[in-house]
Amino acid sequence: MEKKAQSGQLLVLVPCPYQGTINPMLKLGTFLHSKGFSISIVHTHFNSPNPSNHPEFTFFPIPDGLTADQISSGNVVAIVFAINANCKASFKQCLTDRVTEQEPQNKITCIIYDEFMYFSESVANDLNIPRILLRTQSATNVIARNALIRLHSKGCTPFPDSMLLNSVPELHPLRFKDLPIYIFDTVENYSELLTNANNVRTSSAIIWNTLDCLEQSSLAQIKQQCQVPIFSTGPLHKASTAATSSLLEEDTSCVAWLDKQSHNSVIYVSLGSLVSISEKELAEMAWGLTKSRQPFLWVIRPGSICGSHWIELLPQGFLEAVGERSCIVKWAPQMEVLSHGAVGGFWSHCGWNSTLESISEGVPMLCRPCFTDQTVNARCVSEVWKIGIQLENELERGEIERTVKKLMVDDDGKGMRVRAKQLKEKIEVSMKGGSTYHSLNELVEFIRSF
Ligand code: UDP
Repeated sequence: MEKKAQSGQLLVLVPCPYQGTINPMLKLGTFLHSKGFSISIVHTHFNSPNPSNHPEFTFFPIPDGLTADQISSGNVVAIVFAINANCKASFKQCLTDRVTEQEPQNKITCIIYDEFMYFSESVANDLNIPRILLRTQSATNVIARNALIRLHSKGCTPFPDSMLLNSVPELHPLRFKDLPIYIFDTVENYSELLTNANNVRTSSAIIWNTLDCLEQSSLAQIKQQCQVPIFSTGPLHKASTAATSSLLEEDTSCVAWLDKQSHNSVIYVSLGSLVSISEKELAEMAWGLTKSRQPFLWVIRPGSICGSHWIELLPQGFLEAVGERSCIVKWAPQMEVLSHGAVGGFWSHCGWNSTLESISEGVPMLCRPCFTDQTVNARCVSEVWKIGIQLENELERGEIERTVKKLMVDDDGKGMRVRAKQLKEKIEVSMKGGSTYHSLNELVEFIRSF
C-alpha cells in the first residue's frame, strides 16, 4: 500500500512570479499535497497568486523591493535579477519565523524553488534545509540556452543576418535564429541570468516539467552530464486537477460560444502572458483570420497591443465583418478551451506551458514565437514532432489566411492533427503507469527520504 507522507511533512515552494512559471509550480504543489504533504507557497508581492484559489496551501508573501519603474518596464530579466538581489533576507526571515514557530516535528522537509529564484538555494543552504530545483522550460531549450551562453562567451553574438538560417552545429534542427534570445535586454545580461538558472548549486535533485516521449534525446544528454537525479514529471498540468492559478480573471463565456461551433473548426489564438504586438500586426492578424473563414477564439490580453488598453486599435469594420464567427476575450480558461472538441488548432507564441497543453490535447499548432524559449519550442513543434506550422515572416494577412487554412482544412494540417493525437496518446500512457507516473512516484519517495 502506498505510504503517506509523515503527518505534517512540510514543503515550501518558491515560484517565479510569472504566469508561465507559477502554473507548473502550483500544479506540482497540488500533486504533492494529494500525497500527504503540507504545502506553503512563499511568493513576491509582485504578481502574487490568489490564495483563495488554493485553500489547500498556506501563502507567505515576502517583500520583493521592486520599484514601480522596474515593474512598468516589463523587462523580465531586470526584474528577476532584482528579485534575487532583494528577496534573500526577507525569505530567510520568513523561513526562520516559520521554523521557530513550528512544532519540532513540523520542520520544513524541503524547499522546491523555480530555477530563476536561485536566491532560495542559498537561504536553504544557510538554514540546512534540503532543496530541489524546478525547471519549467523544455530540456531542448536548456541545451539551446547553453549553446547561446557558449557562443556569447566566444564573442559570436549578436549573430549576423547571414548566419541566422544556418543550423547550429550539433543542435539540428535548430538554426541560429531559433536560439533563445531575450529582445528587451542585452545578450550579456540574459546570458548571465541563464548561467545562474543553469547552476544546480547544492540542490539534491531537479524536477523537470517535461517528459521522455517528447524529449528523450535531450533529456538523455542532460542526464549524462548531471550529478543529481532528474525527475521528468511533465506535463504537470495533468498531474493534478488543481484549480486555476491564473493571475487574470478567466472569461468562461467563451466556452458557451465554443459549444455552438462544429467539431475541430475553431482556431484558438493566444500569445500567452508576456508577448505584445504592434497595431500593424494586430490588423494583419485580424484580416488574415477573417479571410480564412474559420471561426476563431482570440485572447487579447489587456495591454498586449502596443499603445492601447485593450481592443481599441482593432481595424475599422473588422468586428462587423466577422460577426458571430469570432469570440474575443481578455483571458481564457486555456486548458478547458484546448480540450474542447470544437478547437482544431492553436495559434500560439509557443511558451512551454502552451505547447505542452496543446500537445496534451492533441491540438496542432500555428507557431508565432517571439523570444526566449518560444523559438526553440516552435522549431520542435514544426520540425521534430511535425505537429504545426511556423509563421516565420513579418505578419501579412494573405500568408496568415493561407497558413490558417493549411492547418485547419488542408491535408497537411490533417497529418499534423493525426500526429498530435498520437502524441496525446503517448502522454496519456506516460501519465497512466508510464515514465511520468514513475517519475512522480519516485519524486515523492525521494522527498519522503529527507
Ligand atoms: N493562459 C491562460 N489563459 C489565457 C492564456 C494563457 O490560462 O488566455 C495560461 C496557459 O494555459 C499557460 C500560461 O497561461 O499555462 C502561459 O504560459 P506559457 O509558458 O505558455 O507562456 P508565457 O505566458 O510564459 O509566455
